[in-house]
This record gives sequence, structure tokens and C-alpha cells, in this order.
Amino acid sequence: MTAQIIDGRAYAAGLRERIAGHVSRLKRDSGITPGLAVVIVGHDPASEVYVSQKAKQTVEVGMHSEKYELPETTSEAELLALVERLNRDPNVHGILVQLPLPRQIDPHKVILAISPDKDVDCFTPASVGKVQIGLPGPVACTPLGCLMLLRDFVGNLDGKHAVIVGRSNLVGKPMAQLLLRENCTVTIAHSKTADLPGIVRQADIVVAAVGRPQLIKGDWIKPGAAVIDVGVNRIPAPEKGEGKTRLVGDVDYTAALPVAGWITPVPGGVGPMTIACLLANTVTTASLINGLAPPKDLTP
Ligand code: NAP
Repeated sequence: MTAQIIDGRAYAAGLRERIAGHVSRLKRDSGITPGLAVVIVGHDPASEVYVSQKAKQTVEVGMHSEKYELPETTSEAELLALVERLNRDPNVHGILVQLPLPRQIDPHKVILAISPDKDVDCFTPASVGKVQIGLPGPVACTPLGCLMLLRDFVGNLDGKHAVIVGRSNLVGKPMAQLLLRENCTVTIAHSKTADLPGIVRQADIVVAAVGRPQLIKGDWIKPGAAVIDVGVNRIPAPEKGEGKTRLVGDVDYTAALPVAGWITPVPGGVGPMTIACLLANTVTTASLINGLAPPKDLTP
């Protein structure tokens, strides 16, 4: 048996097309153009790439895009003033402040300043709480992407045992909430978990969000399980030449492929879903701010 490969790139392209359809209907029927503001402070090269991709894809689906590139020396007060202005701006329905921030700025203060109504990253306590009790609103982008892939490829998740490896606020914890809402039995594992291999072996669904290259071995995977690999790790690739590197996930992909039922590759699995889900969240917040129900296919 060889696992079905979950092509996140293709799924994300289809999702963006659906989002573009929702955006044009919102414009036509309600005169609303969903708007996303992305803010970057300083010159972290990886963050600059992410922010440019986010701004480009926002425009491609027909949304209004605003990009603020602030100098490394920006003070906390200046950034908070910008967030306040964006909170009040009726053309902006989503605010994303790219992390990490320079040392002089407390990221918690900035996150808390974002209006929960426009919190498309789902970082504020109010947004996190809404997900927990099942109220409509934005959902953490990467877990939302994982859920969409699981629903589409695996189908009904009722009663499945999901093991999530990693308990970050960004991925592990919101993933657990979403899978609980899907009627999975959820186990969250972390760095202090005893017998991680034994726990992963029980999983019908494994979500790996650790940040340790190929931690999860092929013989930890239950035959037929769905394996969602969130990890992105750069490792040396001497076969490509001296000093070259390649990206791998948290799962030993080659070893898991003949055992799993479904598996996401790295790159090309979960990664492309994250920005697409940011756009989905902006349609959700634009709808809710204007008193409309968000499109069902963009929400959990
Ligand atoms: P994080 O905040 O560093 O959390 C890592 C989690 O893994 C922690 O809960 C930690 O446990 C656990 N862990 C560490 N070593 C472990 C081990 N040996 N066994 C079991 N658990 C272990 O990371 P994150 O932000 O969730 O990201 C995880 C990975 O996903 C990273 O590679 C990141 O780059 C990637 N990522 C990808 C996307 C995407 O769009 N594709 C988005 C976000 C993140 P403790 O809590 O006990 O320390």
C-alpha cells in the first residue's frame, strides 16, 4: 500500500478560486470589498517574503490590500497607533502584524491591541475563546488549512483518534480544538510526553507540529492513518552539492509513505494552505463585521 499524497498546493489553488468567487459576490451583492492590512517592522528576510506573498495573493483574489513596511527603529507606541488606526478603518477587515517584532516592541501588547473583529491570525484571547466555544469568527490559519485537507481527503472524522504532536498556541492547541469539534478523540503530545512512539501508533490521524526534522518514524505510523506534517525544517543536503540544504517535515516521509493512508509532503502540503486560509479568514471577518453569515466552506 502507498499513501495517497495530499497535494496542498493544488487544494490551496482551488480554495483561492472559491475565495475569489466569494469576494466578487460580496462586492456585487453587498458593496463590500474585503480588505487585509499587513504590517511588517524591520527587515527579517523570511518575514519580507511571507508579507509580499500575502499582499500579492490578497490582490489576486480581488481583495483590497494594504501593506505597511515600518523601519526597524519603530517604537511600540508608533506601532500601537497604526494598529488603532487600522482598527477604525472601515476598508480594513483583517489586520496582520508579522512576527517576530524588533526587541523594543512587546508582541503581546500589539496582539492585544488588534480588534478581535479583525484578528485574522486568531491570536487574541477573544478569538481563541470563540473557537473554543464554537462561535463564528476567524480560526488559526494553519490548523484551519489542516482541517480543510483532512475533511476533503479523509472525509468524516467522527470517532477517529487524532494525535497532535506539539502544543503551541499557533498550531497544536487550536488544531486540537478543531478536531474535537469534528468529534475526534484527541491526544496532545509534547516534549515531556512519555512513549511518544506508542501514542502515535494509536493514531488514525497524526498532526505533527514540532519543528524537529523527521522526528516521527515510519514504524510509528498505524497502517492507513492520515499524516499531516506541519513541520518545516531545513537540513543539509550534500547530495545536492556542498553547503546545499533541503526542506523536510517532522515526519520521515519516505518511511511513512508505504504505511500511511494519506500524507502531506513537505514542501507542498500544509504550507500553501496557510496563506489561503488567511484570505478565507478575511472574507469571514468582512462578512461578520457587516452582519452577514460567513461562507460555510471557509469556516470549520
Ligand atoms: P513551537 O512553538 O516551537 O512548538 C513546538 C512544539 O513541539 C512544542 O509544544 C514542544 O513541546 C513540542 N516538541 C518539541 N520537541 C518535541 C519532541 N522531541 N517530542 C514531542 N514534542 C516535541 O512550534 P510551532 O510554531 O507549533 O511550529 C511547529 C513546526 O511547524 C515548525 O517546524 C514550524 O516551522 C512549522 N509551521 C509551519 C507552518 C506552515 O504554514 N506550514 C505554520 C506554522 C508552523 P513543549 O511544549 O513541551 O516544549
